[in-house]
Parts: sequence; C-alpha cells; structure tokens
Amino acid sequence: MSEKLTFQAETQQLLDILIHSLYTEKEIFLRELISNASDALNRLQFEMLTNAAVLDADAELAIRITLDEDAKTLTISDTGVGMDRAEIIAGLGTIAKSGAKAFIEAMREQPESASDIIGQFGVGFYSAFMVARQVDVVSRSFRSADEAVMWTATGGTDYTLAPAEKTTRGTDVVVHLQDDAVEFASEFRIKDIIRRHSDYVAFPIFVGADEEATNKQQAVWRRSPSELEEADYDSFYKMQTMDFGGAAHHLHIRADVPMQFYALLYIPGSSQPNMFSPRKDPGLKLYARKILIEEYNRELLPEYLSFVQGVVDSEDLPLSVSRESIQATRIMTSLKKTITRRILSELKRMAKNNRDKYLPIFQEFGAWLKQGLVVESDDRGDLEPLLLFQTTHDDDPSQYHSLDDYVGRMADKQSDIFYIIADEYSSGARSPHLDAFRQRDIEVLYFTQPVDAMLPMGLPTYKEHKLVSVDSADLDLGDIGAVAEADEAPRESLADEAFADLKSRVQQTLGERISDVRESSALVDNPARLVSDDEASSRHMYRINRLLDKDYELPVKALELNARHPLMHNLSSLIASGGDAALVEAVIEQVFETALLQDGIHPDPSSMAQRLTLLMQAATGSEHDALDFSGAGTIIPEPTREADSGNMISLADE
Ligand code: ADP
Repeated sequence: MSEKLTFQAETQQLLDILIHSLYTEKEIFLRELISNASDALNRLQFEMLTNAAVLDADAELAIRITLDEDAKTLTISDTGVGMDRAEIIAGLGTIAKSGAKAFIEAMREQPESASDIIGQFGVGFYSAFMVARQVDVVSRSFRSADEAVMWTATGGTDYTLAPAEKTTRGTDVVVHLQDDAVEFASEFRIKDIIRRHSDYVAFPIFVGADEEATNKQQAVWRRSPSELEEADYDSFYKMQTMDFGGAAHHLHIRADVPMQFYALLYIPGSSQPNMFSPRKDPGLKLYARKILIEEYNRELLPEYLSFVQGVVDSEDLPLSVSRESIQATRIMTSLKKTITRRILSELKRMAKNNRDKYLPIFQEFGAWLKQGLVVESDDRGDLEPLLLFQTTHDDDPSQYHSLDDYVGRMADKQSDIFYIIADEYSSGARSPHLDAFRQRDIEVLYFTQPVDAMLPMGLPTYKEHKLVSVDSADLDLGDIGAVAEADEAPRESLADEAFADLKSRVQQTLGERISDVRESSALVDNPARLVSDDEASSRHMYRINRLLDKDYELPVKALELNARHPLMHNLSSLIASGGDAALVEAVIEQVFETALLQDGIHPDPSSMAQRLTLLMQAATGSEHDALDFSGAGTIIPEPTREADSGNMISLADE
C-alpha cells in the first residue's frame, strides 16, 4: 500500500543541485545525518522529562552506524523521537528551516559556486543524495500509538511512503551508495569521519558491532581549556553559526562557585547579520546537565550583550524545566550575573592590555555597549573603561582613546570633559565650536555614532569630571589651558553700538528661529555658531528622534556672532550705510543656515543653492543690480508654533 508523493519545488531544486554537484568533500553528509540523529535524541530526552508514556523508555540513547560493503549500504540508526507519517512528510518532503533555504538562495545568486559552498551550509538530510542513489528512512515515533512508516526517494521529483515493520522507537536512515561512493561503506573511513566531524556529539556513536563508542561525546564546553586548541574553538563556533569569517574572541568559563556551570561564549567578528546562519535570533543555547533546554535563551545576558553567541550548561538548573519555579529563577539570575561580569571583565582586560585586538570589537559592538551604559546604570562602572573615542588629540580618525587617556592629558586647570556631537569625524573636525578649544589646546572627544547623542544621559560624569558639550551656551573656558599666541594681532571687535544694530537686524530677520543673539567669546576663525541653553539631556533629543525616525522639530538655539570676523564687519558697514536690505537679509539667513549645516542639523542643505548663487553674484559684480532674493529667502519659513511645543519650531518644506 505504498503511495507516491511529490517533493516541494524547493526540495527538488536542492536535490538537483546536490546530486549533480562536483563538491569533493561529500563526507559532510555523515555529519548532517548524525546531527539529525543527535537532535532527535535530544528531543527524546526532553520528552522523557515531561511525558510519562514514551515507547521503549529503557532503550539506550545512542546512534549506531552499520555498514554493508557488498550491498553498498550505510545505515544510521537512532533511538530518538522518530517520526510519524505527517512528521515525515513535513520533515523530509519540504524544506522548512535549516541552512538549506539560505543555501538555495545563495545558489540562485551564484549557481557556479555550488562546489565551493555546500560545506558551509547545514544542507541537512538531503546532503545524503551527494553519495546516495536511493535513501530509505524507516521511522517509528516515541508515541506508542503511532505506526511505523517508510519513506523512499531516489532523487527524482517524487518519493514514496509506505507502512513499515519497525517495532522499536527511532529512525533508521539507509543510504544506498552510488558506485563512486562505496568508500563510505568502509568502517575505517567512517570512523575517521566521525572523529573529525562529530567527536563532540553528546550521544555515543557505535560503528558496526562495536561496544565502544567511536566519538568522545565530550561537549567542547565541558572539556578542559588546556586540552583544547584554538582550532577546536574555531570549528565549534563555525559549526554553530555558519559564520566562516570566524569569531573575534572566545571566552571559556568553567565555574564551581557559587554555582557549577560551563559556558563557551563568542564575540562574533562582525555585527552584520549572517544570512547563512541557522541561528536566526539572539540568545544563548541553554543546557542543563548536557540536555538542551532552550535554543535561544535571552535571560542569561543583558540586552546590550545580546551580540554574544554560545552555550551555557548548568549543573544546577532543575531538569523539570518548570522554569518559573523559585529555584530556577534564582539560578538563572545568578548565572546571568556571573556570565555578565565575566564578559565585561574580559573586555576590560582586553581594552586595557590589548587595544589592537579590542578596537575592532569595539568598532563592531561599541554601539551595544553604549546603549548598555544608558539603559543599565548598574553596569556603568564596568562599561566606562570599554569606551573608546576619536578625539582632537591627533588629527587621525584611525586613533581611538579611552576616557582615562583623555583625563590623563587634561589641560592646566581643566576639570570637565568636553565632547562634540557631529554626524561624522570630518564635519566635527571643521566645526566652529572647536575654535576656542583649538586655540587653548584643549582636547575634545568626538561623538559621531548615532547612539552617541544618547551617551550624555548614561554618562553625565566620568570619575569626578562632568561631560560638557562644546556647544553649551554658558561655556566659559576661563583660564583653562594656555591661549596660543596669535600670529597676527587679533582683529578689532565691532563697537558696542555697531554690534547692537547688527544684533537687532539679525533678530528681526531670523525671528523665532533663534532664541537670542549674542557676542561670542569663543569663536576665532568662524563668523557664527549656534549654542544651546538646554540641559544636556534635552539638547540632543532632536538627533535622538531623528535616529528613531520620529517626527522632529529643529531645536531653537541662540546664535553667537564673532564680532571680530571680517564678515560681521562688512555686514555692519552695509547696515550702517543703509545698503541693499535684501542682501543684508540674505547674508543673515545664510550665516544662520551655515551654522545649522556645521552642526549637521540642516534639514535640507540643497535648498541653500539658490541663495548661494545670488550671493556669489553679488560678491563678484562690481556694481550689482538689486538682486531679488525673494525666491531664495523662503527656505526656512516663519515658525509654526504648536500650543505646547515649547521652544521648538517646525520646518515646512516650502
Ligand atoms: P534540519 O535538521 O536543519 O531541520 P533536515 O533537512 O536535516 O533539516 O531535516 C528536516 C527535518 O526532518 C528535521 O527538522 C526533523 O524534524 C526531521 N528529521 C530528520 N532526521 C531525523 C531523525 N533522525 N529523527 C527524527 N526526525 C528527523
């Protein structure tokens, strides 16, 4: 009574690729089949904890491989959960999860590369067809009422299903080897493959009639670090994550007090999601006494360390997995604490003693750590030493410095730590806010990552030093540092009366877009800058909202003018002589928008082009006609004030 069914289209495609592939390391099919058997045994262990009625409850949890060189077959049998008819159709007739889907995707993009990439994917069960002309699967579920079934396929578009005679629990996969793959019926060859690819599998793998298992069954994380080599850690990571770039760092923990547990943790090499990875969610694999309890556990690490991958195996967690129990909760909390501390102190050690190794990790995952600083204030002391910044200390964006480096170099009488928020290093370096700091040789930290706008919330002070933004309105550098001797005598400042006229004209033109106009004591080479009276915490909300893609309104700031700057002198003369009013206004508008641009918060820089063209026209004409700036002056309209919008203005498009 056998029936014929058709493979899902994707399965057919995968089979076709595998059957015709020239991939030379076909032996990986065994790793895949053993891994399926081991998963089935894991799941059975789990069933036995929660389910009283399991068929063959006394059967040993093991994998047995039998070989027949004459019949050219290899059979791999397990005493795992087994499959009933529906499960076999779902599991072996379709591709649900597994690396296979990603593999097909990659193949669509680069069909010629099949032979290079098969080994990098968990192609799963179907990899048997690289060596098989036919595969039979005979399975009986652990649920005693279910009947045994046999599945057979030869690599075509169909497979058959029939009832089977199997009285014991589990699955037999019979691989009928192709003529050029008979080597896989050799016991010697098979044992060699098992030792190389599947040594760590937690269940015994017996070959032939052997009574001794071929594999050591020692989970990597339970072995002593002294027995393990870098290559062992590396291959375990790659197998778990399919991240063939390798990990940036690993941390192997074996703890006895206060609890006994093992952990093997990895910091990936890249923060980019790996499309080939079978692991789709963050989380650690949680084992309790070698039994896999949870594939993606997120309770063992704080959110900001969710980039860490790996395995935690506890000796103390109750197997009964009623994980809400008080005992389990207590153990989980304690595990989380210990693991978090260990990771942080490892990172701290690296940041201090091996900056070259730490820097790439920080560049990938620094944003997570900074987020941690904002969200988990308890961990602040551990996170602060992990921060690195570009600074004005050297004009080299490849150099990063710690807060301690900075503090150690503070200028005479300096007690605050200064930072500049900018969209990127190069725009920060050109900012007018740095004029006064450069003049006094005071170092400034660059905050250039989007998350840095939030950093002042989590890090209001470091040691006893306050963090202060260079655009704070009340900033008074006083006698900090040594003001460098200017090469030329400082330019004349505008007379008080002239400045007052200039100021009122600027106020008139910019209206509520600015909160005030002031004379600057900080500017040297730049004509103007925008400063903020707000608290540091609210000052950066604009950037944070932009980061979160929320609607945002441009903050209203005070405009500081440099009364020594030639542009201000020219503008003042133009006003005094009753010159072209349209030109005066256009210059004021442009001074304001240039300051927005320099702070990286101009909402639409290209809108300045028309006005800039007219200004150039005015600058180059010896006697210019009255220019019509009316079309160019409408970029930032009068503010539309919402009743409760505080001191924010909205920017309309037109
Ligand atoms: P993956 O193991 O990545 O899910 P596979 O193609 O290797 O992909 O296997 C598909 C499904 O078939 C498995 O998820 C499992 O449900 C089932 N399966 C495969 N081999 C066995 C086995 N030995 N015992 C029980 N179920 C199995």
